[in-house]
Amino acid sequence: MDLYNPAISYDGVRRVAVGSVADIASVFSSGGDGGLNYSICNTGHGFHTRSESVSGVIDLSRLRAVETIGDDLVRVEAGARWSDVRAAIPRGRRVVSGSFPGVGVCGYLSGSGVGPDVRLMGPSALFLDSLEVVDRRGESIRCSRQENPDVFGEALLTKGTRYIISSATIRTIEDSLLRCVDVAMRDGEIGSRTIPDFIREWMIVSDGFSCVGSSLQVMFIGGVPTVKLRAVARKDAEGELRSFTEALGVSASIFDLWGSQLPALHAEPEKSPGSFMDGFGILSSASTGDRGRLVDELIGLGRGQNFFGVELRHCSLHESLLDATLSSALWRDVSFIVQHGSLAEDPVNANEVAYGVLDGDDRRELPNFSRGLERSGAMDDLIRGLR
Ligand SMILES: Cc1cc2nc3c(=O)[nH]c(=O)nc-3n(C[C@H](O)[C@H](O)[C@H](O)COP(=O)(O)OP(=O)(O)OC[C@H]3O[C@@H](n4cnc5c(N)ncnc54)[C@H](O)[C@@H]3O)c2cc1C
Repeated sequence: MDLYNPAISYDGVRRVAVGSVADIASVFSSGGDGGLNYSICNTGHGFHTRSESVSGVIDLSRLRAVETIGDDLVRVEAGARWSDVRAAIPRGRRVVSGSFPGVGVCGYLSGSGVGPDVRLMGPSALFLDSLEVVDRRGESIRCSRQENPDVFGEALLTKGTRYIISSATIRTIEDSLLRCVDVAMRDGEIGSRTIPDFIREWMIVSDGFSCVGSSLQVMFIGGVPTVKLRAVARKDAEGELRSFTEALGVSASIFDLWGSQLPALHAEPEKSPGSFMDGFGILSSASTGDRGRLVDELIGLGRGQNFFGVELRHCSLHESLLDATLSSALWRDVSFIVQHGSLAEDPVNANEVAYGVLDGDDRRELPNFSRGLERSGAMDDLIRGLR
């Protein structure tokens, strides 16, 4: 296993590198506690249980087959990455993916992944046709919105704790040109505004532009911040994108990017520069005052760190981009996604700070973004709350 995040270690833990779906099933069905207490690992991009508390790890990284079915469907194995899919599908088609080609498709889907164009296209699960999963007793189940819908919903939320996704069949869409903005600003380059003021303004302004998806990333190196505004719109909504940057008082050039190239907008590093990562969703019920205090706290925290990054992604998904699945229920009411990361030698848990400002009714833990869901029973609580 070549793991993306240097903080993950399975040293001294029994590893089973599976070569087929049947191998996954046999780990779970093979006597004793079988694989019930096994962790699942593919690329090491996600959160992992501490190795002391697992009896083994199933390595999915060899299961990378991708098969196209006609022009508009693609079937991927448990360990395939978005880059594998992009290489396999016909020219002129694309998938609605996350922000990094090296992430595993099924791991991403198992946490209800959302990508840079979520405000335009909806969550990636919306483009799923069906799944094949293996439950923790070793039974293989086919599921979709029509067939075993409960299994389908849970498999897309529970990060392999109940079901391993052994394959996913995904709808591709026509690739098209998008209009994008990618602008970096230092302190003092955003007019007379402070960074917290600018973020607060963005949080208010972004809701007024229904055809624009945007995020703000603030990176602190030695306590000094740089802010990046990234935004995306369909080509025919260029006027709205321009009005959006004007409303924010940002001068930025607008450029073309194919939807299939969208992960380039985030330009994620090939190896994790930070090793402590966490996050959560801010719900629409959070007051403007609480959001503002949260921004102050996060920025104050970063200024005292050698290395700290925080990204806020605008979510607020229109109902037409959601469906009746549990995975869609996760995104309903989430206004912003907050992600943060720091170094292992100097870790800072911004969730503790954030949770001091936003109470439980104003935030939601998100499977792909919140390590807190590893707590025993937390996933059950999340599912109960969404049903
Ligand atoms: C640079 C970067 C960019 C990211 N961008 C986005 C983004 O835009 N949107 C987003 O939503 N998330 C994003 N993520 C989060 C990422 O999607 C999740 O961390 C995802 O779990 C990674 O899956 P993996 O298989 O690559 O990683 P791994 O670390 O190998 O797996 C993480 C966990 O996923 C589960 N898992 C993996 N494979 C399967 C499977 N076949 N069946 C069931 N469960 C499985 C297991 O619980 C495993 O422990 C990003 C992460 C990084 C590091």
